[in-house]
Amino acid sequence: MTGPESEGSQVRRAVCPGSFDPITNGHLDIISRASRLYDEVYVAVMINKAKKGLFEIEERIDLIRQATAEFENVRVEAFHGLLVDFCKQRDIPAIVKGLRAVSDFDYELQMAQMNNGLTGVETLFVPTNPTYSFLSSSLVKEVATWGGDVAHLVPPVVLEALNKRLRKD
Ligand code: ADP
Repeated sequence: MTGPESEGSQVRRAVCPGSFDPITNGHLDIISRASRLYDEVYVAVMINKAKKGLFEIEERIDLIRQATAEFENVRVEAFHGLLVDFCKQRDIPAIVKGLRAVSDFDYELQMAQMNNGLTGVETLFVPTNPTYSFLSSSLVKEVATWGGDVAHLVPPVVLEALNKRLRKD
């Protein structure tokens, strides 16, 4: 059979990749919107051995799992190497990324074109909710380090983890 009926039997998967050090409400907004568009959404946490983050990979994964617990079709995994290989191994044809501002666009376009050239994987850009257009993990860490209030920018589990980590250091 051809056409929408045969296509409809396929599980539609997408991936939201990133460092998530830690996950913010901006990430969560994109993940939740992707989870409404796709049957299965993978959150892929990039392992970068050259760059030590505030949180270990396992801690980041744990925080994302807790923050996304309400979305039944979201799975969280670590990855290293090429994102296109992660996609190929799991039969994922689409990468979903949030675009905050024009400044994000140049680099994202290059990556999308490179990834498409490598394996044919598509990248879909979702415009950020304006509430979070200024928000990044690094800014959250910076503000929290100096005692600023980030309660409205991250999920409650992340706020707790940030307070613990930064108080201890
Ligand atoms: P990296 O900087 O390593 O790419 P991040 O973990 O900071 O990873 O972000 C991963 C992806 O999440 C970004 O490429 C972007 O698509 C999305 N993202 C990050 N912050 C926001 C935000 N405030 N609003 C919407 N999307 C965001």
